[in-house]
Amino acid sequence: MKAVRVHEHGGPEVLRYEEVPDPRPAAGTAVVEVKASGVNFIDIYHRTGQYPAASLPYVVGTEAAGIVREVGEGVSAVRPGDRVACFAPVGTYAEAIAVPADRLVPVPPQLDLRVAAALLLQGMTAHYLALSTYPLRAGVRCVVHAAAGGVGLLLCQIARRQGAEVIAITSTPEKAELARAAGANQVIGYDGFDLQVRALTAGRGVEVVYDSVGKTTFEASLRCLAPRGMLALYGQASGAVPPLDPQVLARGGSLYLTRPVLGHYVLDRAELLARADDLFRWILEGSLSVRIGLELPLAEAREAHRRLGGRDTTGKVLLIP
Ligand code: NDP
Repeated sequence: MKAVRVHEHGGPEVLRYEEVPDPRPAAGTAVVEVKASGVNFIDIYHRTGQYPAASLPYVVGTEAAGIVREVGEGVSAVRPGDRVACFAPVGTYAEAIAVPADRLVPVPPQLDLRVAAALLLQGMTAHYLALSTYPLRAGVRCVVHAAAGGVGLLLCQIARRQGAEVIAITSTPEKAELARAAGANQVIGYDGFDLQVRALTAGRGVEVVYDSVGKTTFEASLRCLAPRGMLALYGQASGAVPPLDPQVLARGGSLYLTRPVLGHYVLDRAELLARADDLFRWILEGSLSVRIGLELPLAEAREAHRRLGGRDTTGKVLLIP
């Protein structure tokens, strides 16, 4: 079968669309025929070597939806023919993948598999950030960085459905428009965003900042916070944040800093299914929407990475085998 592999770390050009052996269903796993693979920023961190992935060479990708083709010994959670989605196991930029069966989420029959692939990882992330890391509610104000991105558009919508007020940050007028359509109360640019946030909150600051940009925004994000506010630094699209003196948190107003990771908010199958259930239900009832901004054939993974890494995408990017 065809898959996209990385043999050495580097730019988008190291992605190779090539023939690899078909996956086999080991005990406890299911082989899924991939109908759509989600492209996520973490795939770029893995490709560049910024985050450790599997040993080289490895098949890229952390999210997919498709149809179960075969199951291994001891698997009862799914059967051949089931429509499923998954995230986390590396290797989804492929025509088929073998996945531990307990990581598979059943996709409701009414839901398009492409929508499931577009929603699961980024939706789960927005869900845990808004409901668990800092449980949003009416009266709380939050800042959402990269608000027109995959996680960003979903986070704006979920924050609003929790009753919070959203100040979104984006880099272009087109992205600002999308953030507004996703429910953001205010949309601002990155230049002097801490001063803009202070001005919008009568000098007080916000209760929580969701920062996925990292290096270029981190310090100003801290300056956006009200006393005892929380910075949830959940990504580093612009690069890694340097080490921090804890006194900075004291001086900022007894601030909280957390560096959350999706895996720690999906600790068991019950938590996985509960979050997925909320997301699928909201999509099906029309109270949450997922924007698929770009769909490319699997063979064009390099272009997908160029555009995502170059800030040239909005919403979700999918690769179709
Ligand atoms: P996005 O669709 O949000 O794409 C990244 C966006 O980041 C860009 O569109 C751009 O938006 C913004 N950005 C700002 N500076 C840069 C830069 N120097 N280079 C590239 N992009 C930049 O990607 P995802 O939705 O896939 O992921 C968003 C973030 O969430 C990532 O940092 C990712 O690692 C993180 N994440 C974390 C998880 C966790 O559990 N911790 C789970 C899932 C994702 P703009 O032009 O508006 O600035």
